[in-house]
Amino acid sequence: MLAPPAPIRALAFHRRLPLLRPHHPTLLPHSPGPPPPPPPPPRPCPAPARFLMAFSTETAGEEAEEEALPGPAGAGGGGEVSSEEWQRWGTSSPLPTVVASVVRQLLEMESSAGEKMRFGGVGSKLKGDFKDVEDRKHRAVYQTLADSDQKLQYYSARQIGCRLLGSRGYLCQKCWLPMEDCMCSKLAPCNLWRGIRFWLYMHPKDFLRQNNTGKLLWQVFGIQAASLCLFGIQEHEDIMWDAFQRSGKEKVSFLYPNKSATPKSVNDLKFDDFAMSSGLQEGVQLEPLNLVLLDGTWSNSAALYRRLKERWTAIWGEEDIPCISLSMLSASVMHKLRPQPAWDRTCTAAAAAGLLSELHMRPELSAFKLEEQAEAVECSLDILLDALIARRVRLGRSITRKQRHRRDCI
Ligand SMILES: [Zn+2]
Repeated sequence: MLAPPAPIRALAFHRRLPLLRPHHPTLLPHSPGPPPPPPPPPRPCPAPARFLMAFSTETAGEEAEEEALPGPAGAGGGGEVSSEEWQRWGTSSPLPTVVASVVRQLLEMESSAGEKMRFGGVGSKLKGDFKDVEDRKHRAVYQTLADSDQKLQYYSARQIGCRLLGSRGYLCQKCWLPMEDCMCSKLAPCNLWRGIRFWLYMHPKDFLRQNNTGKLLWQVFGIQAASLCLFGIQEHEDIMWDAFQRSGKEKVSFLYPNKSATPKSVNDLKFDDFAMSSGLQEGVQLEPLNLVLLDGTWSNSAALYRRLKERWTAIWGEEDIPCISLSMLSASVMHKLRPQPAWDRTCTAAAAAGLLSELHMRPELSAFKLEEQAEAVECSLDILLDALIARRVRLGRSITRKQRHRRDCI
């Protein structure tokens, strides 16, 4: 059952709630285009804890109210996006070629139209007359692309390009919150145990979202220990899969509801003796266990999973990709601000914290301070939640699910 509306301070204490059966999504083709319709409402019921998974999920209506309009300083006023600007958003990759190309096209159109680009609303979408012109051009380019993979890459790049330009001068490049709400000074960094590495496989629609929680992982652990990989962005995906091939397939696992014949949990993750013995020593070369978190809405996650599975099969010739599920995932503190279709799907950062907590329960890993690392993530979630609530209160918006659902618009 959903909790009743709570006072602001109480919103941060929603952990360790009863476990519910997940609603497994149907796999969707990963062709680009409008997002698929939301899944039917799940019917929660008591179940074994094995199948929990975390996703950021929201309805289109909720999504629409969550992002405010960028200020006038945004858009293309600063010219093309440089590599340095790109990397300040949370990645060490070079600026992806397709993103650079989309940004260039937008700027050229702005120049020839003699009209400033304006962005706003969900995902920094283009506004005004310019939008119609750009939309026609976008469709024309899209039609020329030969295959579905190129179309996906273009779709992702366009999403990201618009978000980059629309967020310029408006969002803090580290925490992705409007600058007046920047929470960076409150965050405490923490070292992640070197035996593991997180990958945030993020849907472009979650990129630069204020209430995205995957970003917290690299804010806390740094971009080398928790790395962003954007769905459909070739450079990002290649970096991630190169790392997987370096480490070997035994050192890759995806946090996703088990689809394999034998459900697996955190207890099935294997750490070699080298990781166990050298995990605390500096300067020792170590290939960590790669743990992949799918960071997108529940409906988008099926496309993320499908793309991962296709590449896994192409590289290693196996249909069955290694997925694990958590057994005691806490309900997300973000639930209040970002309603989920079911309790069993919580936000990405809470999933990471749950994973670390479960690893900590394994006696052979108890020396690696994984519980402290889980706490650091949960703390960052509280800070983000406080920042989002403070913003909503300042803007006169409601702060609980029930209140918000009574209102049609913000
Ligand atoms: Zn910040």
